[in-house]
Order: sequence, then structure tokens, then C-alpha cells
Amino acid sequence: MLEKLFYPASVAVIGASKEPGKVGRAVLDNLIHGFGGKIYPINPKAAEIEGLRCYKSVRDVPDAIDLAVIVIPAKLVPQAVRECGEKGIQYLVIISAGFKETGPQGAKLEGEVKEIARAYGVRIVGPNCLGIINTVSRCNASFAKKMPPRGNVSIITQSGALGTAILDWSEMTDVGFVNFVSLGNKADLNEIDFMEAWRTDRDTRVILAYLEGISDGQRFLRVAREVTKEKPVVVVKSGRTSAGARAVSSHTGSLAGSDAAYDAAFAQCGVLRAGTMDEFFDLAGGFSAQPVPAGDRVAIVTNAGGPGILATDACEKYGLKLASLAPETIDRLKTKLPPAASFYNPVDVLGDASAGLYEFAMGTVLADDGVDGLIVLVTPQAMTDPAGIAEIVAAIRETTDKPVLPGFMGGTAMQQGVKTLERNKLLNYDDPERAAYAMRMLARYHGIRGRVYERPRRFEADRSVVQAVIDTARAAGISVLGLEALPVLEAYGIPTLKYRIVDTADEAVAAARTLGYPVVMKIVSPEIVHKSDVGGVRVGLADDRAVVSAYNRMMKDVRAAVPHCRITGVLIQPMAVGGKEVILGMNRDPQWGPLLMFGLGGIYVEVLKDVQFRVAPLSGKDALGMIYGIKTHQLLEGVRGEKPADIPKLVELLERLSQLVTDFPDILELDINPVKVYEKGQGCLALDARMTIT
Ligand code: ADP
Ligand code: MG
Repeated sequence: MLEKLFYPASVAVIGASKEPGKVGRAVLDNLIHGFGGKIYPINPKAAEIEGLRCYKSVRDVPDAIDLAVIVIPAKLVPQAVRECGEKGIQYLVIISAGFKETGPQGAKLEGEVKEIARAYGVRIVGPNCLGIINTVSRCNASFAKKMPPRGNVSIITQSGALGTAILDWSEMTDVGFVNFVSLGNKADLNEIDFMEAWRTDRDTRVILAYLEGISDGQRFLRVAREVTKEKPVVVVKSGRTSAGARAVSSHTGSLAGSDAAYDAAFAQCGVLRAGTMDEFFDLAGGFSAQPVPAGDRVAIVTNAGGPGILATDACEKYGLKLASLAPETIDRLKTKLPPAASFYNPVDVLGDASAGLYEFAMGTVLADDGVDGLIVLVTPQAMTDPAGIAEIVAAIRETTDKPVLPGFMGGTAMQQGVKTLERNKLLNYDDPERAAYAMRMLARYHGIRGRVYERPRRFEADRSVVQAVIDTARAAGISVLGLEALPVLEAYGIPTLKYRIVDTADEAVAAARTLGYPVVMKIVSPEIVHKSDVGGVRVGLADDRAVVSAYNRMMKDVRAAVPHCRITGVLIQPMAVGGKEVILGMNRDPQWGPLLMFGLGGIYVEVLKDVQFRVAPLSGKDALGMIYGIKTHQLLEGVRGEKPADIPKLVELLERLSQLVTDFPDILELDINPVKVYEKGQGCLALDARMTIT
């Protein structure tokens, strides 16, 4: 897939220029310096550029062309694309700017270009991008300054300028690339297409992406799950999603913020998210050169105590285990290390340690079956030979299938050592914290590679009930549903309580008697979102008198709190005693689709903020992960002699909710708060719901 894009036999540069300093010239020069295939400059005003014959149009080129790079003013691009289509060119890299990024006019032009390309079956990178580079075919179809060193990293970037910074970093550290793609406006090919293509690319070992948005969340999830089983995908994602643009009135919406969906989605498909550019680079270096460890037990070899402690702290911070060395390992260390050394993890070889002693200590520790990976710390003390130790680190790295992360700490004294590491394709982590972070992500990837994704279950459900509720609400001009949403839950097997709506205190008493005491009373008003905030909920009403007085109080309190609200009735419900309150919710994310939330619920949910998010559809395993993901999950498992809650039933409810919101894209938000969860075997009950529809 995309073979001819990265490995073309011939490339045309539409807008090739004679003038130094012009993009059309830079692209041509980049191709001339390296690319072995045919190059055709296209420029109606020149006969020849740089000794290459120029053509007026691609149509005049006598031979076949695999790839065309377009660097002409935006308004001329549609015509050029048409000519490329007629010529049978399969791939275009449109560098020209002046499209969607400039406003509606540009967006229209971009639409036109897409249309033409689709008609001819031409695939496009860009427009408004820096271009693409492949270091194997040496095709540099970009206006980046240089070709990066050859390596095994393939990168997608949604910012061309950031791309140039990444290429520059690559040159400095010698972490090499196979493919570089600047996405631009993503009119056609997007990050998902490249991930998919590189999944099977022999030369790519790790995929990196700098993204500002995702083109198709659900497809991203599907494809990324396949890709991350084969190779690591590391993403830096910046910017807020447009989720923030829609006013959210639900608990789920307000707790989700702008980034929860990204975090959840990336975790669900095994994409590793780096928080900063430093982390991004550290993972690029780590995954490109280091093997993936079989576990998270880390050994540290150091020539000083302080860095060893820093590394220990950092390992703990990232949830790595400090390996406990086997007695034989310790005995062996004792045979050569000086008596004052530390033979336990971290192994301190002392300040005067030679490269040879490092070699011995590293080899001994790596031979221990209880060690999954090694961090080697070096500080520049009087006797230290950083370059010599670096050679040893590189050599040992080759002999083991465990990662060996170098942490050479210092400045000028370390330069020789760091350069030696880099020459051997090893990235240095000059802070133990960085090394620990990289190790943690390498170890995490081990788990991702071995993941088995379960299919979501499907339950019997009555879709027609839900459709009828939505249709009725829409006909009445209602977009926020309270009580009306309860039948929707029932239709999908989420149990709710019986209720009666009444208009007078007498009716309230009659209803309470039929339903059975104790009862709960709630205000019903289209203008009231959170009923308890305005005195609109009374619980534990034990008899007729309590009902009458609660009724009168509620009318007064609600009227005082919301002076002109329409009160359409009062709801009487049996009192659900016992159990624990949780919240199940959904907020539809514009990029990822339905984002489900689970947490400890009730009226304090926004204060506690102890919630978990996942993108639907959800498997039972995902649902269980949500429940165990909250900090207070122990409260559900039963503390202080309590019986455990019905977690299997909660899992099922989350799966049912997932099915409901996947079946009905018209549901924008849904809060079921609270759901009462009873002891194991006793099930769950939804006490309140709020649903927003399109
Ligand atoms: P709102 O969220 O609009 O304030 P709820 O219907 O969720 O209104 O009620 C608020 C709180 O009252 C719930 O979190 C729950 O603690 C309690 N509650 C509501 N209905 C019942 C019920 N039927 N049985 C027991 N407690 C209830
Ligand atoms: Mg509620």
C-alpha cells in the first residue's frame, strides 16, 4: 500500500523553479540530491532547470510518472490535478497553501481538488504541507532542508514546521527515519492511512505521530488496534477538541473536558501518548534501538549513589519494579567489585569504575532472570572514561534481548560518551527520570503487543421504543429529556423504578400508598436540570403526613429557587434503600463518538471527580477496566465487613449503555445518575436519568 508514493520510479515537480530561495526550487534540489529515479520539472516558462529538461505540463512528459509534487499557487492547483489524473499519476503531494486553512473560499477550492482527485482515483498528501521523505528510495519530495539519517522510524506530522524541528533533532542525535510525512490539511490521505501502510512496512520499526486532530475516530481505533500489535505507535496530540464548543449540561460532559476522549481512545487501541516533545523524542530513540522488555523489573548500574537514588525514585513514580537480584548474581558481583561497592540494586560500581568494571557489572546483572531491563548511569568523575563506557554499553546492548538504557549525566565531559552512544544508534537519557519514563513505556508496549481485544456483546433490545421516545420529543420541540428517558433505559435492559406523576398533595398521598412507603418525591419541570439543587427532591417519606408536608414545602422551595419555572407535576417513586450510588454516562465526542463514563455517583460526582472514560463500543473487559480504574473501586469490592457490590451487573449495564448509544447517534448526552448498585446477585437500579438528543 502506498508503495509508489514512497518508492516512485519517477517524480514530476509541478512548479519547479529556477529561482534560488523558492519552494519550487528547494523541492527540485532536494530530489536532485539523492533521488535515483527520473525527475521531471514542470514549468511553462523554462526550458531547462539544473540541467533537467523542463515540460509545460505533465501531459507533455513522454514517460510514465508515479508521483507529482505540486508547488504552484492554490488557484492553479485544480487544473494541475486534472492533468495529473489524465496522465495517470497515482500520487500527488500538494505543498501549495491557500486552501481550507485560509477560510471558506480556500475550503471550497480544496473541495474542488478532492473532487477531481477522486474522479481520477488519484491519492493526495496535503495540501498545505511540507512534503514527504523516504530515506530508502532517497526520495525527498519536500522543502525540508535536508534528508534525515536513514533509520527505522516512520513519522507523520500535522505541523510542517514541527516536522522540520524533528528532522533537525534526528540529524543531531542520529535517530534515523524511514518515512517522513507532513500531513497538511489531510484532504485525502490521513494519519490512519499511513499507520495502516506502515504496519507491514519492513523498514519501519516504530511509528510516530504529531497530531492536532483525528480524521475518523472509530476507524482510527480499529486500525490502530491492528497496527499496535505489530509495532509501537507513539503520539503527541496537541490542541483542544471542538467538544468544548458545544455547551455541555451533563455531568459526563463537564467531567470529560476536552481531552478525556483522546486519552481513553489512545489507551484503548494501544497507542502510547507522549505528553511533551521531550518524551516523544525519548520514545523515538527508545523504540528505534531498544528491544521490548518481557516485564517491568528494572536493574540500575551506577557509579554514584545520588543518581542511583534518583533513578530508584523515578522507577517507583512510573510504576516500575526494582529487580531484586538473585543471590548468585550478588555473589558474582562480589568477586570483582571493590568491597565498598553496593551489590544490591542499584548496583554502585563506585566513582573510579573503569569501562571494564562497568562491562562486568552490566553483564552480570543482565544475566539475572529477574531483570527485564537495565538503566546504566554514568557521572563524570576523575577516573571516568565516558567514551569507553559508551562503547561497552553499545557492545553489550547487542548481546542481549533486554533493553539497556544509557543515562550519561553531565555536560561537556559527557559529550564524547554521548556521541559514541549516538554513533551506535543509542539515544542517551541525561536524566534518570527520562530513562525510567522510556523504560516504563517500553514495558507497557510489551503488554500492548500481547493484547487480545474482545468483541462487544450484543443484547436483546427494543429499538422501536427508543425511536418513539426520540420522535415524540422532537415533535414536541424537546431536546433535553428527564423522566421521558426512563423507557429508553428499560428498552435496553437497564432497570428503573416505577413512578407516578401527580398534581396535588392528595394525589401524592394516593400514589404513595399504591407504590408503598417509604417513597421519594421529585419535582418535574422542563427548566430544572439538577432537581436537588433547588429543593426538588425529598427522600425517605414514611407516611401520609410526611408526603403532604413535603409536597407543600417543595412547591414553595422550588418556586423560591426558580421563580418562573413551569412545574408540570410531582413524581412519586418508591424509596430505594441500601446499595451504593454510581453514575453511568455518555457524552458524544465529535472525533471519537460516544464517550462513556463510569464513577461513584450521586449528587457529589463533580466534587469527587473519580471517574473513568472509554470510547464505545465497549467489551465486557473494557467495562470491567472502567470499574476497576476508579480510585475508589475498593468501596465497591466491600470494605469494613461490607459485602461486595454487584460488579458483574454493573459491567453488563455499561455494555448495554454502550449498545444503546452506538445504536442511536441521535443521543448526544446521557447521564444515569444515580444508579444504585446492590450486593452481588442483587442487581442495579437506575434512579434518575437525563438525556439530550439532536
Ligand atoms: P437530581 O440529580 O436531579 O438532583 P435525583 O433524582 O438524582 O435528582 O435525586 C438526587 C438524589 O436523591 C440521588 O442522588 C439519590 O441519592 C436520591 N434519590 C433519588 N431518588 C431516589 C430513590 N427512589 N430512592 C432513594 N434515593 C433516591
Ligand atoms: Mg441525579
